[in-house]
Amino acid sequence: MKKQLQESIELAKHLLGQGHVATYIPELSKVEPKQFSAAIICHSSLETFEFGEKDKLFSIQSVSKLFSLTLALNELDDKLWLRTNKEPSGMAFNSLVQLEYEQGIPRNPFINAGAIVTTDILCEKYGKDAFAKILSFIQTLAGNDSINFDENIYQSEKSTGHRNYALAYFMKSYNNIHCDVDLVLDTYFKMCSIMMSSTDLARAFYFLCNGGLDIKGNVVTNSRHTKRINALMMSCGTYDNVGEVAYRIGLPCKSGVGGAIVAALANNYSICVWSPALNEKGNSLFGMKVLEEFTTLTGKSSF
Ligand code: GLN
Repeated sequence: MKKQLQESIELAKHLLGQGHVATYIPELSKVEPKQFSAAIICHSSLETFEFGEKDKLFSIQSVSKLFSLTLALNELDDKLWLRTNKEPSGMAFNSLVQLEYEQGIPRNPFINAGAIVTTDILCEKYGKDAFAKILSFIQTLAGNDSINFDENIYQSEKSTGHRNYALAYFMKSYNNIHCDVDLVLDTYFKMCSIMMSSTDLARAFYFLCNGGLDIKGNVVTNSRHTKRINALMMSCGTYDNVGEVAYRIGLPCKSGVGGAIVAALANNYSICVWSPALNEKGNSLFGMKVLEEFTTLTGKSSF
């Protein structure tokens, strides 16, 4: 798979820097758009192949929603689905309109409203320690204790995150946010500001290609949840771009406006491609192309 990933990167290189880095979070607009990195971990052998700026840390943004979902599912099991739905939204990740029609229940746990709910569930359980719990969960999954959040990105999100405050207060009016909104959003913004490399993320997603066991064989979640998290990534993991992602890439993916796209294929591999310039839906242009070429060259996709 090393050769095919290398070749996919070559085929996508002309797209590097095309698209736009996210600017609605001011701190993210400073990121140099032409950078990239990629990492793949092969199932069973655990062989790891890395490309580009492999040590470069970037803001994981919405990829963090995968981790809060996993912890919330472990906590509430099927009761989670009383607090969020599991259908694609067909709307931007920070859209407000659907929430009123649907009485404060987000369409899915991967749009902002849904991730604010999964964060609220963790705040209910861990109070002020919720962020520490999420961070240590991610550190364990990636096998890297030095992972942390970026204070400047966190402050930047907090001072400009008016839509997220609107979403949280709106859901609170429907009693779907139980904790103090400031605590929930502080936890959410810090979680989005966590800095990781492609290799960290490929390692952290390994449990999704390995029946719920992490890279060291520890149980992250059960196989039923693992199947369902993969299904949710496929149907909701790349915002209102999921149809295009399923069509072109054919893998369950989770993306973030920091430019990462992370994917897993059961019993085959976990993979992360990062490059910060995004398409109009908020997904890395280069990342989409690399993954599309990779599943074509290897024939290893979900379909
Ligand atoms: N922190 C970002 C936000 O709340 C995450 C969005 C994303 O990556 N799609 O708007």
